[in-house]
Amino acid sequence: MKIHVFKPEIKLEKVGNVTIEAANSFSENTDLKATVLYPTSLGLSLAGSIYTEFNKDIEFKEKAGTSYYNGTNGATSLPKKVTASSGVANITLKSISNSTTITGPTNADIDATAANTTQQAATNPIAVDQWVDGNSDGWVDWLRAQADPILTCYQGKAGEPGAVASSVTSMTQLNSACGTTPLGTTNIRISTVCTVGGVNRHRTNVSNELSDTIIHEARHSWVNQELKRNDVGVDDDGSALTPSNDDDQDRWPEVLGGFSSANSLLESSSPSGSDNSVDPNPSNTVQETDAANYAGTVRSLCP
Ligand SMILES: [Zn+2]
Repeated sequence: MKIHVFKPEIKLEKVGNVTIEAANSFSENTDLKATVLYPTSLGLSLAGSIYTEFNKDIEFKEKAGTSYYNGTNGATSLPKKVTASSGVANITLKSISNSTTITGPTNADIDATAANTTQQAATNPIAVDQWVDGNSDGWVDWLRAQADPILTCYQGKAGEPGAVASSVTSMTQLNSACGTTPLGTTNIRISTVCTVGGVNRHRTNVSNELSDTIIHEARHSWVNQELKRNDVGVDDDGSALTPSNDDDQDRWPEVLGGFSSANSLLESSSPSGSDNSVDPNPSNTVQETDAANYAGTVRSLCP
């Protein structure tokens, strides 16, 4: 009779896609599965199959270098032991990792260990991505999960906030400082990172910073929309090629929505007044100031 002495090995894998849990600080939830196997070194027909007699604890632990799974703000607290059933243990890891760099936080490395076992070298530890774009739509999932409802919320507001937000024809992720709206467009771009006081406030919308960015960019979008109108303003130059609301295309509109808070943007407020000449300084400075001031007054309306 020949007796084989062996240690089972623990294989570690991800199950399914990362999901976002809105009610848990928009945590990124990653499902892991640990499976106890007969080791391949065994050289028997059983090698690599599940060691179903294993019903003991498997410990999941975050390796040194990151500390996302620290139990705070809804994050999973590691290390954590899960009792295996017929050689299998599952765990959901929830993280709300933050970063001030647009590439996001580094991966976490997770170990799954148990007494009298080894870790399968190829799979354990396993890298757990942070700031994932699971459906490859160009958005980091936690950002889109927050940004879409915020824009929808503003679009549903009466009066100026609704008009401003409803001008937006598309919203995409573009990582730059907080957000940006290309000149003349109604396409707003939102960044994963918006740092105030050394903290990226977009990750969990601290002090409505993400809301501020979205309505700020929407304000640029709205002005751009209004500038292109031919049904308002005076057609000073008589040209159908230029919108009557901004004949001189200096981005000072002649008529703007009827909202008093936007009056500073009007052509009549500009250095050149309501005319058909390009202003001496046709930069977007006045729009920037207006967008910042406007967002400051409505940032807490949503969500
Ligand atoms: Zn701006």
